[in-house]
Amino acid sequence: MKKFQPQPGFVVQAFRFALDPNATQEHALRSHCGAARAAYNWAVGWVTASWWQRKAEATYGIPEAELTQWRPWSLPSLRKEFNQAKRTDLRFVSWWEENSKEAYNTGLANAAAAFDNYAKSKQGKRKGKRLGMPRFKSKRKARLACRFTTGTIRVESGGRHVTLPRLGTIRVHEPTDKLLVKVRAGTARMLSATVRHERGRWFVSFSVEVARELQRVTRPDAAVGIDLGIKTLAVLADSAGEIRTVANPRHLAAALKQLRRTSRTVSRRQGPDRRTGQKASKRWEKANAARNRVHHRVANLRADALHKLTTAVTGEYGTVVVEDLNVAGMLRNRRLARHIADAGFGEIHRQLTYKTKRNGCRIVAADRWYPSSKTCSGCGAVKAKLPLHIRTYECDACGRVIDRDDNAALNLVALAVLAAAAVTGTGVAGDQDTAPAVSKPRGADQKTRATRTCRKASTGRAGGATLPHQRQTETRDRTQTEALTLWS
Ligand SMILES: [Zn+2]
Repeated sequence: MKKFQPQPGFVVQAFRFALDPNATQEHALRSHCGAARAAYNWAVGWVTASWWQRKAEATYGIPEAELTQWRPWSLPSLRKEFNQAKRTDLRFVSWWEENSKEAYNTGLANAAAAFDNYAKSKQGKRKGKRLGMPRFKSKRKARLACRFTTGTIRVESGGRHVTLPRLGTIRVHEPTDKLLVKVRAGTARMLSATVRHERGRWFVSFSVEVARELQRVTRPDAAVGIDLGIKTLAVLADSAGEIRTVANPRHLAAALKQLRRTSRTVSRRQGPDRRTGQKASKRWEKANAARNRVHHRVANLRADALHKLTTAVTGEYGTVVVEDLNVAGMLRNRRLARHIADAGFGEIHRQLTYKTKRNGCRIVAADRWYPSSKTCSGCGAVKAKLPLHIRTYECDACGRVIDRDDNAALNLVALAVLAAAAVTGTGVAGDQDTAPAVSKPRGADQKTRATRTCRKASTGRAGGATLPHQRQTETRDRTQTEALTLWS
C-alpha cells in the first residue's frame, strides 16, 4: 500500500489517550474490534479457499489453464467481495449493520497486508524472518484493535472527550490539550484514529499530520555514547569526557515476588478449560485480573522510565551513538532473556531513533561487530578476549584501568567524530537505516552473512502451484533421500 506522505514542513505524529468508556461504549468498542477480526478471518478463508481448490484439482489431473482462478487479495477486491458476502453469508447477515464499515475495512486491510507480506517474503523481497501463510485470528488471543480513517474523528473542545464514527463521544482519561492546541491553531489535521485494548484499558491513538516543530537541543555540538547493560541500564559518556550512569530500575524483578503470589492464587482457583468446556469461576476471574494488574503496572513503569531517559538524552545532545544490538538474538539466551526484556533495549533504540529525528539531531549506530568493550579508550588497543564477568578494563598496552562499561561508552562517543568526518553535509537527522557506517578498527571487520538465500520466485502468484506445507515436505523428502544415498 502507498505510504501517506505529509506535506512539506509537516510530519505525521501519533497522539495517544487512555479512554474511559461507559458500559455501552465498551460493548461497542469490543464489537467493532471483533468485527475487524471476523472480516480478517473471512478474507483469509476466501482467498486461501482458491488455493486449496486448485491443489485438489491438480490431483485430478486437470491442466493448469483450467484450474479455478486465483482469488485476488488486494484491498479493493476484498472489499467488493465482502460487501456482497456480508448480506448473504450467514456468518454476517444478522449483525454486520451494528458496526461501522471501518471495522470491517480494518480487518480486510490487515488481511490484504498480510497476504502481501507473505507473497513478498516468499519471493525473497522482504527483509527478516520468513513469513507463513496468513492464519485465522483466534477470538481468545487476537488483539482488540480497530482503525477509523473516515467519518467524524475529532477531539472535543472541552479537552476531555473524543468523538469517533459510530462509537460517538467517549470520555478521555487524560486531558487532550497537547493535541487540542494544535487543532485550534490549525497546525494539525486528523488522518485516522485507532482504538485499542491494551494493558487492561482502552486507548485511542490519533494519527495526525502536524507542523514540524524542531525542539532546541541544549548542546547541539556535543555527542554522547550510550552503552546499554543490565547491571546499570545505561552508561552515558559525552564528548567532553563526562560519564553518567543510569541505574537499571528492574521493574519486573521487583514485581516477581508479587507475581508469584498472585499466580499461585490464580492456579488454586477454577480456571477455564477448553477441553471440558469448563468456564472460569468468578473468583478465578478476579484473581487473574489482580495478576494482570501487576503485569500492566510493570509495563507502565518501564515505559515511563524509558521515555524519561530517551527524552533527556535526545533533548541534550546533537549526536547520539548507540550500539546496533542484536536484541532478538540476545533474547534467545535463556539466562539473559528476562533481564534484557525487562530493561527494554529494543525499545530504547526505537525511541532514540525517532526522538533524535524529531529534534533534528543525529543518531549513529555502531556496527554490530564493533568491539566497543574490548577496545582501550585511551590508546585504541584491542583485546582478543574480555569475558563478561570481568567488569574492569585493564589495558595491556598503556596500563589504563577503567570500568568496563565506562570504557565502552567512551569508545562509542569517539565514533561520533569518525562519523561526522564520514558525512560531509547538512547534518540532517539520519535514522538507523541511513546512519553513516562507521569503519571498525583491527580485524573486527566481519560482515554478517545473509543467512537466507534469495529464493527464486515461484511461477505465477505467491500461492504458487504448491502450498507451503507441501513444499516443506518436499524439501524434507529430498534431504532424507540424500541422507540415504550417503549412508548406503
Ligand atoms: Zn590502552
